[in-house]
Amino acid sequence: MTFEQLELIEPIRKALVKEQYTTPTPIQAEAIPVVLDGSDLLGCAQTGTGKTAAFSIPIIQKVEEQGKNGRRPGVKALILTPTRELAIQIGESFTAYGRYTHVRHTVIFGGVGQKPQTDALERGVDVLIATPGRLLDLINQGFIRLNTLEYFVLDEADRMLDMGFIHDIKRILPLLPKKRQSLFFSATMPPEIERLAGTILHEPEKVEV
Ligand code: AMP
Repeated sequence: MTFEQLELIEPIRKALVKEQYTTPTPIQAEAIPVVLDGSDLLGCAQTGTGKTAAFSIPIIQKVEEQGKNGRRPGVKALILTPTRELAIQIGESFTAYGRYTHVRHTVIFGGVGQKPQTDALERGVDVLIATPGRLLDLINQGFIRLNTLEYFVLDEADRMLDMGFIHDIKRILPLLPKKRQSLFFSATMPPEIERLAGTILHEPEKVEV
């Protein structure tokens, strides 16, 4: 399998050449076509498998293909992740894979002043990468609306639960449009995680690496 076989748009192919990626990792080879197709995805994968690119690349492609000018304003994709470090890393992936596209993203996390984050939001973003607590804070203050959302990613679901984020997640879920594409990633799939996945996903394709 090569990236050529994945039907990626030219600006993304170019970014992958710049990153010197030649071959998709197994989760990328399996997940990218599923996400491009529009199905929900349940991915059982650890950090280090290339899972960030597995969801970032197809989301960048889908948002870019909606067109720079024809695109309605508002957040199109939300990536929820448990830690600031992961949020920053995912942000760097969107910078790298989206560098030749028009897709704009920003990263939202707690423990720092919110002004730079709300300034970025006011300039307008397509993709929001966030930890749950700060996201809820900014939603409650009216800086973020999720009614235009089309793509939702829950990253590292098992760590989210371990870190006590379940209540925040349960507050965020009802704010998302029912009609959306959802991707759910977890390194482990205990019953509690499977139940949570069941409440978020609609007829998901399963990918395990
Ligand atoms: P992740 O599991 O998403 O955190 O990715 C782990 C590391 O692998 C990151 O440093 C990526 O830059 C790198 N990586 C992801 N996909 C590929 C690929 N197809 N080829 C080479 N490196 C990759």
